Amino acid sequence: MKFESQVVHVGDRKRSKCGPVPSTTPIHLGTTFFYESAERLDRIFGHEEEGVSYARYGNPTNEALEELTTALDNGHGSLATASGMAAIQIAVQTALLDRPRSIVSSNALYGATIKMFDLVFSTLDVDVTYVDMCDLDAIQKTIAAKQPGIVFMESISNPLMRVGPIDKIAELARAAGAALIVDSTFSTPMMVRPLDLGANLVVHSATKYLAGHGDVLGGIVVSDEAHNEILHTLSRISGPVLGPFESYLTMRGIKTLALRFERQCRNAKTIAEWLMGHASVERVYYCSDPEHPDADVIAKLFTPGLYSAILSFEIKDADRAAILAFMNRLKMIVPGTSLGDVHTLLLYPPMSSHRDISPKLRERMGIRENLVRLALGIEAADDIRADLEQALAGLT
Ligand code: PLP
Repeated sequence: MKFESQVVHVGDRKRSKCGPVPSTTPIHLGTTFFYESAERLDRIFGHEEEGVSYARYGNPTNEALEELTTALDNGHGSLATASGMAAIQIAVQTALLDRPRSIVSSNALYGATIKMFDLVFSTLDVDVTYVDMCDLDAIQKTIAAKQPGIVFMESISNPLMRVGPIDKIAELARAAGAALIVDSTFSTPMMVRPLDLGANLVVHSATKYLAGHGDVLGGIVVSDEAHNEILHTLSRISGPVLGPFESYLTMRGIKTLALRFERQCRNAKTIAEWLMGHASVERVYYCSDPEHPDADVIAKLFTPGLYSAILSFEIKDADRAAILAFMNRLKMIVPGTSLGDVHTLLLYPPMSSHRDISPKLRERMGIRENLVRLALGIEAADDIRADLEQALAGLT
């Protein structure tokens, strides 16, 4: 099945011995499951037969979603979690279980992931070293020096849209015995499938494109064969699982992922090209830019024609007050955090995702005080452009 068909069909319409088959998977709220015989329940508890017994171990709604996300990322298995951060935490715990307590990580990560590494994993004696994931030489040297258990990166960095060579990094990680974990939230399985490029675990904030409507907090881990069993064993113990209602909403969202994401990417390209010629805009960061520093990697790894649905731009001569005033003038675009929703969202990194980083460090990371990030929705591109135009016009 092609991707557009998988999103609609995989996981649904399970045959059961009793009763009719619903055309979409229902919400199973029950926490406890039993069978026609205690012997069968015994086999299910003993993993001799597939089935559900208790909601922390598995639930038919979650299992349908997990079958779907496994197919989309071409994995061996999946775990649906209560948030993207819960997905990252259990993926890291899974990979570190029998490896050295050391992580070599991209230095351009979602802020809460950096905090998780620095505050949560450091208390467990996990050593974290940050490196530029677009500098293969530096990655090679750091891996050689640190001999890490994990290499961690995002498929597209936030907010400057840098793209590291996942395939080459996977080779370096494998040679050192490390697991490669890729946060693929920004790219979705429509643009890239990191497991096909040699990654071991892929994580998504399902809150974003997968659920897609700004009404679900959730996460997904997709695993290769080697890590799938331990991922689920850890989950059965610690229980970071997604609730069945959120699973249902996520699965419902994914059914239109192909349509939504294609439109969002198209809107992003249209708006990026328009902003590049705008008199009030100093610089645009977007993956379709032929001058993009990682243009070769983008051409090699990403689905042709898809350059993601997120862009950032710097507004000429704007300080923090001018950016806040610009945000206040927006009429349709939502000036809020997050991304991947059907509505377009505009975020100011120094106010939100990169708030806890000092202005000096932000400057060194290339995140200037006049930078905003736009996560495109599915509205008409003309309306998005008109809203930005009137808000930019107020600057002068
Ligand atoms: N990874 C990335 C790239 C994100 O942008 C986010 C949230 O914005 C997360 C992970 C965390 O996801 P959640 O908010 O669902 O926990």
